[in-house]
Amino acid sequence: MPPWPLVAIPILMYHAVLPIEPKASARGTVPLSIFRDQIAWLARRGYRSLTLDEAADALRGEAVASRARGVAITFDDGYRCVVEHAVPVLAEFGMTATLFVVTAAVDTSTDWYVQGGGRSFEHASWDELERAAARGFAIGSHTVNHRSLVDASDAVVADELGASKETLEKRFGRCSHFAYPFGAHGDATVAAVHRAGYTTACSTEAGLNRHGQPLLRLRRQSVSRTSTAGRFRRRLGAWI
Ligand SMILES: [Zn+2]
Repeated sequence: MPPWPLVAIPILMYHAVLPIEPKASARGTVPLSIFRDQIAWLARRGYRSLTLDEAADALRGEAVASRARGVAITFDDGYRCVVEHAVPVLAEFGMTATLFVVTAAVDTSTDWYVQGGGRSFEHASWDELERAAARGFAIGSHTVNHRSLVDASDAVVADELGASKETLEKRFGRCSHFAYPFGAHGDATVAAVHRAGYTTACSTEAGLNRHGQPLLRLRRQSVSRTSTAGRFRRRLGAWI
């Protein structure tokens, strides 16, 4: 029997959080009022936010049972709206998260979501990310250019992983966590992430993470504008 059979850690995946009407159409965006309700609900239920380091320790079997109501919270792409709107809500409830940053996109605006009915998004500046880091939020890598690593050459993959890590280490002291752009990964990508020195890597495969889950293939539960309260709770899994 594993040392801690009950561990099943949800890792939530968000992209953008904006003060828009709950019914407004905006791909990749969770309305701020709904986000606030979700975090308040977690706090009422006694959840605490886990860092990805804590989640990794738990999945390796090195953690303590008091972490049973742990949830790790992640945001992909490093949007400014997350620093402006989501970080203060999390801080209000004593929670933190990991922000996965695309280093070449910092302080720019991209239209990744425009196709498909979305909108363009501004990415946070280095100053804004540093302020979030000072509040206990972790900054992880989401590559340099947000390109899929499964169809890139070995040299490009090594650079996307290594150069983004180096940039973030210079700014924030360390960079141990990675998120695959588009969730795309295979055995070769996972091996490259390992060689680059990351401790964890998040995919977009749905599900909870149980003891022994490979740390470079962490599952995440996507939260989107269509996540009703019931669906959000079900995604947290075992303790509802
Ligand atoms: Zn992304």
